[in-house]
Amino acid sequence: MRPLTTIAFDADDTLWHNERFFHDSQQRFAELLDPFADAEKVGQALTAAERRNIGFYGFGVKGFTLSMLETATTLAGDELPASAVREILSLGKAMLEHPVEILPGVVDALELLKDDYTLMVITKGDLFDQERKLLQSGLQDHFDHVEIVSDKTPEIYRRVFDRHGQGTARSMMIGNSLKSDILPALEAGSWAVHVPHDLTWALEHADEPEDHPRYRRAGNLGSVPALIAGLGDD
Ligand SMILES: [Mg+2]
Repeated sequence: MRPLTTIAFDADDTLWHNERFFHDSQQRFAELLDPFADAEKVGQALTAAERRNIGFYGFGVKGFTLSMLETATTLAGDELPASAVREILSLGKAMLEHPVEILPGVVDALELLKDDYTLMVITKGDLFDQERKLLQSGLQDHFDHVEIVSDKTPEIYRRVFDRHGQGTARSMMIGNSLKSDILPALEAGSWAVHVPHDLTWALEHADEPEDHPRYRRAGNLGSVPALIAGLGDD
């Protein structure tokens, strides 16, 4: 193989916990709407609203908050109390302030890889929020480059790996989302390592490309350096 030079990491639920805060907010949201619809119906309506709204608001907490408001007005109609609107807005703000909890194995993996590879973050979401989390994580100095993008497509991966690395064939994307981190990076010609997280957003599900020659799977980031060292033996 051509030697790997550049390794990119997804941020949310790859470097730190994220989806659990969405999950908790969604539970509280369902409780708020309990007088109007059962939790399953609330969950389905919210996911449908998020799917519809990505093209308007992009990814992240602000779009999620607007989708909660839209879902609430749809399910409760004019009966929706102002107190519920206030609570939904404060759920959103609380998510934008949640503490950053780094996932197991992350710091050790970055330390082991930093001397031999260009390391970067490729993340999508709200610009302010992603910048805040990176700063609070204390991980910023481990990375040579940070790219906060509006979506993760093969074209975006090609552009980023051409700009900061030596092209896609010498680059690797590591992340928890098959749909955003793995499939488009493979399509662009990169290596891709899936590090599953036990909570993954419904809109990020996709089939695992098990037989793809440049695809690997790791239990957590701690096992990634050994996995990368083993690639040279292929
Ligand atoms: Mg992620």
